[in-house]
Amino acid sequence: VCAIDPKSIVSDACASYATLESLNSDLFQSLDSITKSTDFFAYYRLNLFNKECPYWSDANSMCGNRACAVDTLENEEDIPPVWRVEELSKLEGLHANHPGRQQQEERPKARPLQGMLGEGVDESCVVEYDDECDERDYCVPEDEGAAAKGDYVSLVNNTERFTGYAGPGARQVWDAIYKENCFSRPPPQLSTFGRPSPLDAAKDLRSMIQGHKVGSPISHEDDSYPLDDQCLEQRAFYRIISGMHASISTHICWDYFNQTTGEWVRNLDCYKERLHEHPERVSNLYFNYALVTRALAKLQKHLEHYTFCLGDPAQDFETKQRVIELISRITSAPPTFDESRMFQDPAMLELKEDFRNRFRNVSRLMDCVGCDKCRLWGKLQTAGYGAALKVLFEFDETKNGENPHLRRTELVALVNTLARISHSLTAIQHFRAAIKAEDQDK
Ligand code: FAD
Repeated sequence: VCAIDPKSIVSDACASYATLESLNSDLFQSLDSITKSTDFFAYYRLNLFNKECPYWSDANSMCGNRACAVDTLENEEDIPPVWRVEELSKLEGLHANHPGRQQQEERPKARPLQGMLGEGVDESCVVEYDDECDERDYCVPEDEGAAAKGDYVSLVNNTERFTGYAGPGARQVWDAIYKENCFSRPPPQLSTFGRPSPLDAAKDLRSMIQGHKVGSPISHEDDSYPLDDQCLEQRAFYRIISGMHASISTHICWDYFNQTTGEWVRNLDCYKERLHEHPERVSNLYFNYALVTRALAKLQKHLEHYTFCLGDPAQDFETKQRVIELISRITSAPPTFDESRMFQDPAMLELKEDFRNRFRNVSRLMDCVGCDKCRLWGKLQTAGYGAALKVLFEFDETKNGENPHLRRTELVALVNTLARISHSLTAIQHFRAAIKAEDQDK
């Protein structure tokens, strides 16, 4: 196993492991508290049960464990006021058709917030309709579809952890996800600046891959990770997926159910097997941290003018202040990722389209996950990465009106995804310390 050198730069990002860890120690508490104690970020609306897997049907791969189940919010009182049918009906009528984008823009603003946002700030609350697709989206919108307004879920009460979902069903989904990474043709022109410097690649990834066990089952890393032949954009696609997979695995090991003792435990062997022996997976997780923090930093101006709107002006105001503070912590740290290196060459437009379509397919594959809780977090995290990609590649922070619309669900997914990666980084540091302590005892 090759150890990670904290001073080395995370390949394809522009920060070292140590820099990202230091940023994370600054952000962790703040992210944890924003996602757990503000209604805006603690509830997520998604279509969890009504979408069929578009690629195959296999009832046998459904997970029947209690741990796989999601508690949805059935009671109106448990849902933040602004989303309750009663409230929505006041504005639109119960069976209102979906208003088109133009109609949404023209709709008179409702529920003015008074006195909470400082002088000269004219903000008002509007119920946002999330189910319109934009061609610049990297994800299939979560509540897409005519009747589908989705289920409300408390993310705090349905934590991502070990569920027991495994075997051929789970494997089939991961395989299909990684297959999206097999870009069929080389990009029109390899961006020379997109290639990792030999130093980076050698230091960080290729050397780490040597840690992979000889004779272990064929893995995605073995057959679809030809670093040398991939441009930065293609590598980034793979790294996002693998980093997301690594984060999920980290949470499985961190909150693991020991079936013999009936206790929830930290499972160090699980961590060793799934992550520690595969430093490239850990590297991809750090890559994702760099990418998502940069996306949030880029939203700074946008969020300063954003209306957080859950019907309780005091809480909305508080939420906004906390988000602005979180972002200012990110922007006052050294930059983590430079998206301007990607998709710049006009010859890369086709690849960008391909990249976007493939990522949308990954988001569709989440409907094939046979465990409700895994599907919830899988959907949330693909939506979060999709939002990050949209911000990185479709937003221009110097412009206002021309940027694509960022839906509430995208923002919730983005911040919660960062909170998940942040928690994974923290968990990995704990696991590493435990391994070190174990080694010293030997
Ligand atoms: P898997 O994790 O299934 O991995 C399959 C193969 O992929 C491995 O053999 C390896 O070759 C390769 N691989 C593994 N990790 C990486 C990586 N980071 N990068 C590149 N290649 C890799 N289970 C839960 O208990 N809780 C959850 O919340 C949960 N969420 C899930 C969400 C999704 C979207 C999916 C598809 C599955 C989820 N699962 C969850 C199942 C879990 O991810 C594993 O599939 C399961 O624990 C079985 O693990 P495994 O050891 O067989 O390897």
